[in-house]
Order: sequence, then structure tokens, then C-alpha cells
Amino acid sequence: MSAIDPGRLFPTPGFRRIAARLEAAGYEAWAVGGAIRDAYVRQIGTKPDLPDPGWEDLTTDARPEDVMRLFPRTVPVGVSHGTVKVLDGDDGYEVTTFRRDVETDGRHARVAFADSIGEDLSRRDFTANAIAWRPASDEVRDDWDGAEDIEDGILRAVGEPEARFREDYLRILRGFRFAGRFEWAIEVRTDEAMREAVDGLSGLSGERVREELLKVMADPKPSTALELYATCGALGHWYPELVELAAAGDAWRSALGAVDAAPAHAANVRLASLLVAASETPEGRAEAAESLLSRLKFSNADRRYITRLARLYLPFVGALDSAAEHRRWLASVGDAWEDLFELHFAVARAAGEPRAKRYLEATRERVREEREGDPALDLAGLAVKGDDLLALGMSPGPIVRMLLEELLEQVLEDPARNEREPLLEEARRLIEIGSLAEASRPRDTPAAGNGLPEADD
Ligand code: ATP
Ligand code: MG
Repeated sequence: MSAIDPGRLFPTPGFRRIAARLEAAGYEAWAVGGAIRDAYVRQIGTKPDLPDPGWEDLTTDARPEDVMRLFPRTVPVGVSHGTVKVLDGDDGYEVTTFRRDVETDGRHARVAFADSIGEDLSRRDFTANAIAWRPASDEVRDDWDGAEDIEDGILRAVGEPEARFREDYLRILRGFRFAGRFEWAIEVRTDEAMREAVDGLSGLSGERVREELLKVMADPKPSTALELYATCGALGHWYPELVELAAAGDAWRSALGAVDAAPAHAANVRLASLLVAASETPEGRAEAAESLLSRLKFSNADRRYITRLARLYLPFVGALDSAAEHRRWLASVGDAWEDLFELHFAVARAAGEPRAKRYLEATRERVREEREGDPALDLAGLAVKGDDLLALGMSPGPIVRMLLEELLEQVLEDPARNEREPLLEEARRLIEIGSLAEASRPRDTPAAGNGLPEADD
């Protein structure tokens, strides 16, 4: 008799509809995993702030082709591992056929279909994730005493821990995430098996490790799981850029504090707040970001953006800087400006410095006001274009861009100068100075960078 009370499980209407339809066709429909676990954690009150459990997963003895036949709107999202997405209104539910592990290489557990919920439960990773409920009969299956472990706050592998991690090394990282999220202690044998299996992490794919990291980063407080990554030796395999930082004690704790303090929906900022602690220099931070994010197969767009955040973190602006300095900073950071503030807020919050926080607020207010004045911050906003300079007789080449940048520099200093005629006048003046400099160069010394080899004498 499990402690799980079906009367306290409240699946969505969509979940109920899909389960009822499977049952009416003669199949079993079960909820397993996250939904039951989270509902029970909420019921016993150890994590009152836990969000409503997600009911988007069903487990059944129906085969994928049966599921596709039974429901009018389906998407074959992972038929080879038994999963069909069933659409209900605007919502999608993943319906997965009972499975068992057949053979494994530790990268992905290779699965075959199974006939019973019992077999299916025995291939799940942790006891807390292996509780099933069948709405049609209100039967609860808790073969591995997951409810008791949840009550005791214990993360325990299902069955033989050594074998379970060897089947799929990702379970180690999943374990850190659940232990961190629920603040559970890792059961002794499970813990030993995790540490022993940790070298197997290198064999995982970057994509799976990334998705796992992003789930940690979406939790309210990622630091506990990340600390487990560090203490169990998992950083060396996928996060070598963080190993030195993690060994540094205080700096690591501040970095983890900043991750927690950054908004949970802002994965980019959270990742950046770890990376900025990895090096003192902009180049060092950018290099750490670039190598770590490539290894984890982040999209080019995400990798470039987070690398930019890491590089641009410092130097920063202050409330007491001039408006021109605020504009120059805005020009150099572009659309990253708000996230850079989030990053600095996270670091300040982690340091528990109320004055720093107030100063940052004042700075952000001034920078925002400056930006709302809509000054020209890039060449696109400049009142003269490259063609205007060519019309003044300049020859095409990099020098045109250099001149435009000089004009932009003047406009950043004083936005009132962003008027076509005065800028053209200034351009003429600069071109003239440039050609005077050219003319005054001694005739027998080659101009710098003319591409000709030095005379060989
Ligand atoms: P979350 O709140 O992160 O969604 P979850 O428990 O629902 O947690 P999912 O990744 O959605 O986690 O997986 C659903 C269920 O599938 C898990 O509860 C677990 O029973 C099982 N599961 C998922 N991945 C694995 C794995 N690698 N090995 C064994 N079982 C797994
Ligand atoms: Mg889930």
C-alpha cells in the first residue's frame, strides 16, 4: 500500500481525455515520473514553492502505431523509442509505450517495448521517478518504494546502482539535478556508484549534456546541483574551463550565488554568470565561453550571444559617468545591454551588497533614459553614409569605414552633431587632413601597409 493518495492527484483535462480514450480501446494508461513525484513532494509539504506538476507524459502498453491510429492529431516525435505526441487543443502530450533496456553503450539506453508497467518501472532511473498511477482504476504502483524515499528526502537508483549508471551515464547528471532541486541526500550506494561511473560522462553526446545543464539552469536554485557536479568530479569531463574556479572556494561560491540570483528564465545570463568568473580578462572569458559552449553544441546564435555577454561584462558603466560615456557603452554592447545589467545585478545580489544594488539601479535608469532619447549608436543611425563619402571623392576601401567611425565617435560625444551638412563638412576636413598627411610623407619611404615587400639589401 503506497502512501500516494490518488485523490490528491489532479491531472489536466487533456491528460484525462487521452487516458480515457486509451483505456476505452482496451489499453492501460499510466502517469509515471515527474508528475507523480512532484505531486507527492507538494503533498508532503517539503517544497511548498514547487510549481504545478506537468502532466504531459503518459505511459501505455499501446504501441506507437496503435496510438497514431487512435488519435486524430499525432506527431511521431520519437517512434523508435516509443514516443508519439498526441495533440489535444493547443497542448501536446507525449504517449510512450512501456519499455525495457535491452542493450546499452552508456550513451543512450537502447530500449525495446515491454508488456507491463512493472517492467517499465524497473528501467527508470530513480525510485522517486518510478511511481505510476492508473487513473482508470486508481491503482498506484510504487514497486521501488519511491514514496518512502521522497518522504525521507533520499535520491536512490532503481535496482543495482552500478548497472543503472553504466546503462546510461546521463543518469548521473540527472541525479545531481534531482538531488539539487529537492535538496535530497544521495543514498550511499547510489552516491558511490555515481562517483565510480563519473568517467563515463565523457562518452555522452554534447547535446544531451547541454539539455541537462539547461534543465538545471531553469530550476529556481541551480547552485546545489552544480556544486554536486563539482564535488563528484563531473566538471572535468564537460566543463574543464570551470575546474580551476570550482577549486577556488570563495570565487566558486560567489559564482554559484550569482547563478541563483539571475532570473531562472534567463539561461543565457545564468550561464554567463558562471563564465565571467572563469577569467579576469575579456579575452579569457570569451575563450572559456566559446570552448565550453561549442563542446556542448549550443546553437551558433546562443554561443555567440553568451560569449558576447562574457566578453562585454567588464569594463562596465557607472551612474556617475557622463551621458557620452553611457552612449559609448551602449554603442559597444548593442542589444546585450539589458542582459549585461542582469548579469551585474546577479553578481551584486550574490555579494549581498545593498549599496551596489542601488547604484546599479541608478545606473540602469540613467542608461535607459539615454537610450530612450534614441541617439545614433551605430553607423546605420549616422546622418551620412558611405556613398556620401564616395561622392566627396574618396576611393572605396576600409578607409571609408574608418572615417564613418570617426564621425560616429563625434556623434556619440554630442548627438546634436548628427546632421547631414555639418557631418559632410567635417568629412571634407578629415579627408583633407588625410591627404595632407599623405603628401607630407617623405617620397622614398614606402607608405605603411602598402603591401609591397621591403627592399632586400
Ligand atoms: P522534469 O521535472 O525534469 O521533467 P521528469 O522526472 O519528468 O522531471 P523527464 O526527463 O521528463 O523527467 O523524464 C520522465 C521520466 O522518464 C522520469 O521521471 C524517469 O522515470 C524517466 N527517465 C527519463 N530519462 C531517463 C533516463 N535517462 N533513464 C531512466 N529513466 C529516465
Ligand atoms: Mg518531465
